[in-house]
Amino acid sequence: MFIDIFTLFPEMFDVPFGTSMMKKAKDIGAVEINVHNLRDWAEDKHKTVDGRPFGGGKGMVIRVDVLDLALQDLDSRIKNHDSRKILLSPQGPVFTQNKARKLSKLEHIILIAGHYEGFDERIRKHLIDEELSIGEYVLTGGEIPAMVVTDAVVRLLPGVLDPEATENESFSQSNEETNKQSYDYPTYTRPDKYKGWKVPEILLSGNHAEIEKWRKKSSKKS
Ligand code: SAM
Repeated sequence: MFIDIFTLFPEMFDVPFGTSMMKKAKDIGAVEINVHNLRDWAEDKHKTVDGRPFGGGKGMVIRVDVLDLALQDLDSRIKNHDSRKILLSPQGPVFTQNKARKLSKLEHIILIAGHYEGFDERIRKHLIDEELSIGEYVLTGGEIPAMVVTDAVVRLLPGVLDPEATENESFSQSNEETNKQSYDYPTYTRPDKYKGWKVPEILLSGNHAEIEKWRKKSSKKS
């Protein structure tokens, strides 16, 4: 899979994408992630990517022309990919595990992280395929949302995790129609005795069939 991210703060991605599963996924070739500085497509000497809103008002707005140039440039370099352009925005539908699963089947996703007041509305209308929010709150920028979407998608790619790990975790059995979600079962590890806080006996019994039943019963459903 290919993931391209457009941002004004590419350095924010260095640590999250250079550690743990994201690093492993890149190292084994499951994903190629390219983080681009939107300023590289600004055409004036000050590298301006934003402007004051027409009609007045607070904040600065990301310009449609700069992002258009950036996306055209990417399109001209990457041919024949089944790609999706996604704008990170608190106004979009909320990102879910089902959505992560769907995105993980694509060949190429392009994530656009905003900053400041937001985007020129023509970006929404003409340049993107969809918007995604990571939750009903407002962050300073789309960088953390882009990391969240990338992490949730990349860990589902073949070879990144043991398939068992992703088949039986929270939301893995979620049903889009009924909106019912399943959560992971409770887990315990050593020490089995600590301050009188007990581990359920069944988990220490070695009876795998009974343990399986207990786990099914104990995983919470919403
Ligand atoms: N003025 C905008 C509004 O009220 O909807 C908020 C802009 S926010 C300060 C700057 C940028 O951060 C957004 O353009 C978006 O890219 C990103 N962002 C903030 N919260 C987000 C969220 N919950 N999900 C996805 N992106 C978010």
